[in-house]
Amino acid sequence: MTRVLIIGGGMAGCCAAHVLSENDWKVTLVETAPFLGGGCKTFLHGGHPYTYGPRHFLTRDERLFEFLNRYVPMRRIPDHEFLTYIERDPGFYHFPIHRDDVDLMPDAQQITQELAGLDGVEGASNLEEYWMRSVGPTLYSKFIDGYSRKMWRIPSNTEIDDFGFSPKGVALKTGTEKAAWTEAISAFPVKINGYDDYFDLATRQADVHLRTKVEAYDIERLRVKIDGEWHAYDLIISTTSPELLMNGAFGPLRWMGRDFLKIVLPVEEAFPPHVYFLYYANAEPFTRIVEYKKFYQYKAPTTLLGLEIPSSSNQLYPYPVKKDQAIAQQYLDALPKNVFSIGRAGSYRYIDVDDIIAQCLDLGTKLGVDLSRL
Ligand SMILES: Cc1cc2nc3c(=O)[nH]c(=O)nc-3n(C[C@H](O)[C@H](O)[C@H](O)COP(=O)(O)OP(=O)(O)OC[C@H]3O[C@@H](n4cnc5c(N)ncnc54)[C@H](O)[C@@H]3O)c2cc1C
Repeated sequence: MTRVLIIGGGMAGCCAAHVLSENDWKVTLVETAPFLGGGCKTFLHGGHPYTYGPRHFLTRDERLFEFLNRYVPMRRIPDHEFLTYIERDPGFYHFPIHRDDVDLMPDAQQITQELAGLDGVEGASNLEEYWMRSVGPTLYSKFIDGYSRKMWRIPSNTEIDDFGFSPKGVALKTGTEKAAWTEAISAFPVKINGYDDYFDLATRQADVHLRTKVEAYDIERLRVKIDGEWHAYDLIISTTSPELLMNGAFGPLRWMGRDFLKIVLPVEEAFPPHVYFLYYANAEPFTRIVEYKKFYQYKAPTTLLGLEIPSSSNQLYPYPVKKDQAIAQQYLDALPKNVFSIGRAGSYRYIDVDDIIAQCLDLGTKLGVDLSRL
């Protein structure tokens, strides 16, 4: 029987175990933490459910929504608004930046002139150029410049030269506010434990070892060291950094992380009804604040806010920089035939939950799984 090792029990490792369970293989999953789910695990603080960061499901692919919804009933959030605080105005505005909001800004005239003089993003070679050409210097400096430098801890956004330009499709929205988001499905699990049931269901046919870390890798021979002993497999699916698999052979990969602060406030709701989290684009140390009870529809006389502070204490965000991506690609290209590196860290790509499900379904197809049985 084919022996498969899955390294990591986050969304990627669990979904891979789920897809491969159709193949009747012997799947072993090892996870360092005492729980499954990685960053998508739901925790409790003062009775309030929360995850690290929003972790809501955002996709343009109905098929991926339907896949997850089959196993974890999801609630669509059609009226979800994203706002950014701009201290110098001061004011909260929509993100992606909306043309109608410009008229509410104290420097509306200047911005309007800049918008009229733009000649398109063609040829933009980095994040700064892309945004300057999309929205002009004033909107760039308000919404993007400080936020992105804070997020990546870099002196200039010209460093960011490898990303799918405009993460949400269009830099400057026009038309009705709702239309800005109807192209994407925004959703969150209905149950108060979030995605957690999925992690159990997805791994129920696997041999799961929690509190278990892969200590060393001999990837050429498909072996890993766990608790001081080497174990061999026929197939390895890793969701950890590809750098670890090859003992740093091509040099270090850069990462950004997050520290998370939790604050309970003595009010039932802190944010307006359609706002679930806020971006902060100024000198404050945090990038985002999430009001968790909105996602979970948790009822309590208090509310829990989660603040995300860029940090180097963990490895959550691969750098969208060509130099770093090229190093990662060297690692990925050097993987032996029966070793797959998936998930956010494993791919060294700034990918989301929907991309990870798509990756696991693709992996299943590659490995001969009949996806129609899932
Ligand atoms: C702050 C934040 C907020 C986000 N919000 C959203 C969002 O709102 N919507 C969205 O779609 N996406 C969001 N994402 C992205 C998305 O959640 C992640 O891409 C996805 O959850 C990553 O899943 P994963 O399994 O690849 O990684 P992880 O969840 O990090 O899981 C990896 C697991 O592997 C384990 N592991 C690592 N090394 C070893 C080892 N050597 N041995 C054993 N186990 C190991 C870790 O303990 C961990 O549990 C967010 C990401 C972050 C960082």
